Amino acid sequence: MSKVKQRVLITGAAGFLGSHLCDKFIKEGYHVIGMDNFITGDFDNLKHLEAHPNFSFIEHDICEHITIDENLDYILHFASPASPIDYLKIPIQTLKVGSLGTHNCLGLALAKGATMLIASTSEVYGDPLVHPQTENYYGNVNSVGPRGVYDEAKRFQEAMTMAYHTFHKVPVRIARIFNTYGPRMRLNDGRVIPAFIGQALRGEDLTVFGDGSQTRSFCYISDQVEGLYRLLKSEYSQPVNIGNPSEITIREFADEIIKLTGTNQKVIFKDLPADDPLQRRPDISLAKKILNWEPKIDRAFGLEQTLNYFKALPEEKWYATDHKTFGDYIK
Ligand code: UDP
Repeated sequence: MSKVKQRVLITGAAGFLGSHLCDKFIKEGYHVIGMDNFITGDFDNLKHLEAHPNFSFIEHDICEHITIDENLDYILHFASPASPIDYLKIPIQTLKVGSLGTHNCLGLALAKGATMLIASTSEVYGDPLVHPQTENYYGNVNSVGPRGVYDEAKRFQEAMTMAYHTFHKVPVRIARIFNTYGPRMRLNDGRVIPAFIGQALRGEDLTVFGDGSQTRSFCYISDQVEGLYRLLKSEYSQPVNIGNPSEITIREFADEIIKLTGTNQKVIFKDLPADDPLQRRPDISLAKKILNWEPKIDRAFGLEQTLNYFKALPEEKWYATDHKTFGDYIK
């Protein structure tokens, strides 16, 4: 007799993280329902799964009531604009998906008896005064700055998720995701890795914001997905940092990209955007201890994979500013 497949709903399925999670859960033998409204997602990220018997897709804005007829075992809530440019372009949607969207997902989890994992973020630490960041640091966030719409939505999301856990006993997992990169990032999303690689490919100067002394710590997508998978399978309902502690300044990082692409581009300096965190590095002691997880992919290898992906994209994507919808594909 064949085993009944467990079913997982992934919101933000057409996004960078969401689509890789769809692949992971398909690979692990689950039935995956992907959901996205394509505000920042791209169906190209899911096209290879379209005909898969264990994959189905619903185009839906999760800020509206979510209806799923089948039972659900897990909900992975990954729908959200995720780049600083998007926060400026679509601030209200960013706030709504983290608050109303999360509430709808939690209501669905409660109704279905499903375990819910949320994509929280290192941004809950704001411009951190504690370094590296541990889960028990409460953060330094400017609620009314340009990043406030994302940071506060994610902080609200954590609070709402914990309330459903304590009040309704919904099993929850809270991943605090640090900068993650890899194939399927949007080349024009403004974040530093696609920005620098895109600039190098188009023959433009690399734009370092501020003096470039601010730091980030970049985690490759396969490591991130494995950490998230292990967190879901754990019994741990408090926040857990998932990221790579290998820290680099943005100025040094620009040189790495120039070397990697072999393009000899110049670095130019632009104003540092408001509230841009000066330093960011996860303390992953907790993840190591409870998930027996740590990143395996070094930046040189991860960046090479990412560069190869961007290079292979049709040239219109190197310059694209629009987003296709599911409807464009199913016409
Ligand atoms: N950054 C930069 N040039 C760019 C894009 C980003 O110097 O063209 C810097 C940005 O100011 C920040 C860091 O790179 O300090 C990481 O930015 P990103 O948007 O990738 O994510 P963040 O970690 O700030 O949310």
